[in-house]
Amino acid sequence: MTSKTVIVLGGGVGGLSVANDLRRRLNRQHKVVLVDKTGDHVFWPSLLWLQVGLRKPDKITKGLEKLLKKGVELVRGEVDSIDPVAKRVGVGGKTYDADYLVVSLGAQLAPDRIPGLSDAGHNLYSLEGSVAVRNFCLGLDGEAKGTKLVVLVSGMPFKCPAAPYEAAMLMAHYAQNNHPGTGTSVSLYSPEGGPMGVAGPVVSAGVKGMLAQRGVDYYPTHQVEKVDPGTRTLIFEDGSEATYDFLAYVPPHVVPEVVCEAGLAEVGGWIMVDRESMETRYPGVFAIGDNTSIPLEMGLPLPKAGVFAHGQAQAVAKTIAARINGKGEDGVFDGHGQCFVEVGGGRAGFGRGNFYASPVAQVKLHEPSRRWHIAKVLFEKKWMKQWF
Ligand SMILES: Cc1cc2nc3c(=O)[nH]c(=O)nc-3n(C[C@H](O)[C@H](O)[C@H](O)COP(=O)(O)OP(=O)(O)OC[C@H]3O[C@@H](n4cnc5c(N)ncnc54)[C@H](O)[C@@H]3O)c2cc1C
Repeated sequence: MTSKTVIVLGGGVGGLSVANDLRRRLNRQHKVVLVDKTGDHVFWPSLLWLQVGLRKPDKITKGLEKLLKKGVELVRGEVDSIDPVAKRVGVGGKTYDADYLVVSLGAQLAPDRIPGLSDAGHNLYSLEGSVAVRNFCLGLDGEAKGTKLVVLVSGMPFKCPAAPYEAAMLMAHYAQNNHPGTGTSVSLYSPEGGPMGVAGPVVSAGVKGMLAQRGVDYYPTHQVEKVDPGTRTLIFEDGSEATYDFLAYVPPHVVPEVVCEAGLAEVGGWIMVDRESMETRYPGVFAIGDNTSIPLEMGLPLPKAGVFAHGQAQAVAKTIAARINGKGEDGVFDGHGQCFVEVGGGRAGFGRGNFYASPVAQVKLHEPSRRWHIAKVLFEKKWMKQWF
């Protein structure tokens, strides 16, 4: 059998799991090459704990070079071109040829799409922004009377539908318990009609109830148009305004430029794939995770979430291994997923279900309890151990 090469683009949730799974399924005559621009893997769900001082950046980050000992080759650099027909990628002036390509470059965060946003606040979805949020929360004291903390979702779609809601609840819980009597308020503005709408009206109402119980003021259907950092004012598309003392925002998400330039996605769109095989319109080129979009019957796309990137990675690894090995069945991504909803105080809710169900997703939300919080802590430990 001739030696085959699989190149995986991106060392995030999807890329890390597909590379590991392929290495396990293919014998060593075949090459698995992982390309990433940072060389580090961050466990993003723990960013929410970091924001309230419960984690440190080095505890939720691991170097991808640890994969070398497993036989995964690593290229550290920015993917600057992809030719999906030739299955050739360019990284920092060098080209690499593949027999199979897996594109898992995530969503690019684009705060500059909203005038004033990046100067006005801190990016809730970055390590640096989360450290700034943590420093602010930890520094709240009796002097900071009436501080108005605002969490802003600045555009759709955004990854992890629960994350901004969890961030707001964790901050509210932290302020109420560690700095009582300071009058700190937490508000959340979002363009969505309701939280986690893709999971159905019952789940959405459940999360809304959790916000209310924790004293988070929630303003849905608010699409921000611009921000005035001078007067600390959010200006929304409907003409309404809101002020803040401290702003933590979820930036607009766009598909990485290199993906558009490759013709894998339209400008302003995402990579379209077969929703079960995750193969693109180019045979042998697969795309998984946040850089894809999968339309659902209910009108919204499948959420961008690590749980789906992971499930898709497993399906793609199985398919590629079956094709290379000439035996075994293709993998199928079936749209099932679950997520924790951290609410503060060592408690979390838990949602689980089938997002491919017809005509709407079938998702059940479990009430917040200590059990689900512990399950997330265990999941974090397992994730950081199993792939490295
Ligand atoms: C605060 C927060 C909390 C979250 N909580 C959860 C949760 O509880 N559950 C859940 O399921 N999901 C959660 N998510 C979402 C989850 O992290 C993402 O959906 C997941 O990481 C997507 O995986 P991916 O492989 O598609 O992209 P990513 O994990 O973003 O990986 C993309 C990789 O590509 C690399 N890259 C990008 N462009 C280039 C380039 N040109 N060249 C080389 N490398 C490049 C990046 O460095 C990165 O390593 C959360 C996200 C955040 C921000």
